[in-house]
Amino acid sequence: MSEPDPLAQIWACADAQQARFSGAEVAAWPEGHAEMLAAAAVLRRDDNATTVVCDACPEGHVEDVVFIESPPGSHIRSYIHCPEAGRVNVPMDRLKQWAVDFHGLARAAAIGLDLAGEVEEIVRARLWFLGKTTIGGRSREVFLARGATWIDAPGLFGACERLSASKGALVLVPGEVPPQDAWTGEPPAVVALKLVARLEEDRLRFDRNHLEGLLAGGRRKAPIKAQESFPTPPGTRWEEVLVWVTESAITVEAKRRSRDFSFQAAGFEEKRKRGVPDSIWALLKVFAMRGGEIPFNGAGLDHKTRANLKQYVSVLRQRLQALIPGIDGDPVPHIKSERCYRMAFKIAGQDGIAFPVPGGARWPDVTISLLRSGAIRISVPITERFAASAYVEAGDGEVHQWEAAERVSELAREYDLRMLGLTDESGRPDAKGAALIDVLRAGGTLKRSPNDEAMLGLCGMLSKLMAAIAGSPFDFAPGSQQWVALFQTSCEQ
Ligand SMILES: [Zn+2]
Repeated sequence: MSEPDPLAQIWACADAQQARFSGAEVAAWPEGHAEMLAAAAVLRRDDNATTVVCDACPEGHVEDVVFIESPPGSHIRSYIHCPEAGRVNVPMDRLKQWAVDFHGLARAAAIGLDLAGEVEEIVRARLWFLGKTTIGGRSREVFLARGATWIDAPGLFGACERLSASKGALVLVPGEVPPQDAWTGEPPAVVALKLVARLEEDRLRFDRNHLEGLLAGGRRKAPIKAQESFPTPPGTRWEEVLVWVTESAITVEAKRRSRDFSFQAAGFEEKRKRGVPDSIWALLKVFAMRGGEIPFNGAGLDHKTRANLKQYVSVLRQRLQALIPGIDGDPVPHIKSERCYRMAFKIAGQDGIAFPVPGGARWPDVTISLLRSGAIRISVPITERFAASAYVEAGDGEVHQWEAAERVSELAREYDLRMLGLTDESGRPDAKGAALIDVLRAGGTLKRSPNDEAMLGLCGMLSKLMAAIAGSPFDFAPGSQQWVALFQTSCEQ
């Protein structure tokens, strides 16, 4: 038999009006249980209890404690009134109690489920919104309800607009699951926490596979491998999200929170042939390889993907919203003016990022700008050929002609220093990042030793990013002991 879970103490009393324990009750628990529950912040000391359960009769009624000072000047004494036993003395020790911390439980469940967003108390001490996630490919808003079997629950929760308006609400209950007709309107999915959560050290751990199985309602025969989702920090916007994609895994990062997922856990497994990623994963990798942008006509993609590009991108959007829940807006908008799909977040592939250098470009063609946001922008001029319509003088009038014309535009990408690997753990520019910023601020020259490690590292990084351009991006001028950029620089700041 496995160790008893300390949470069993919480589940057992969660539906009681007074979800609290006397010091004596807690002392009778297996050693360490109270400490573990307190460390998980689901149980707290309450040394100033004003009510106790009567222990003088078998009724177990709860009474307010009356404090008296008798005779005046003596110690304070406390008692309760019992209909059977009359005045019952309450030793001061009995007022040192432990209470279930439901708000702490809400927070612990939100963390344990990796929910996106922030915990909100919706109905005081009864209902909490915990956050969003994706379960079984479906977006879920998760709530915690206390006293779901109490007589006031249908009225109280039924009147809660936040809950009734929620699509795909999942209500977790610490006690018993109420009958279906206890809900006014469409009943939400309800799951008892004791079926899916357990305490490991000071954290609530969830059995996601079991949870998904419960929500699927036994419709599926095969054992369910739960899809995971990123615990998106509250208020995150798509442009603050960074994504790295390798052959078989994806890393998501936002506001200093980072999480790795296998392609299976991220929901990109081929359904008919298990163990391999599907074609949407291949499309995601192409986006990563191309710095987050694909032309609308799918130029350069394989035939099947090109023919289905619009549909594939639409599936990819849904997958990304399921993997990274809780962010408004389109993760892969169609930029009409530029005839392309461009990811609203930053994405890089296995080998980092490669700038799509146009053929024949050299370092002097490249401009690197430091933006106000701290990101950098790299641009290279390109010549576009297009068909132009013109009216040409021809003897007795004008003749309409089509002719090939050229126009110069530019190819540009913005990069966050973090994506370029130029920041430290805390997200601040590292030595190479600082050197790049210094060069851009100084207009392309920097006085450093010829063996300066940061500058040598920066040369390597830029050469890799712009791999199609031969030679070093910097010259070293021995006379002035200066590094001189061969590319153009600019600085918004
Ligand atoms: Zn009594």
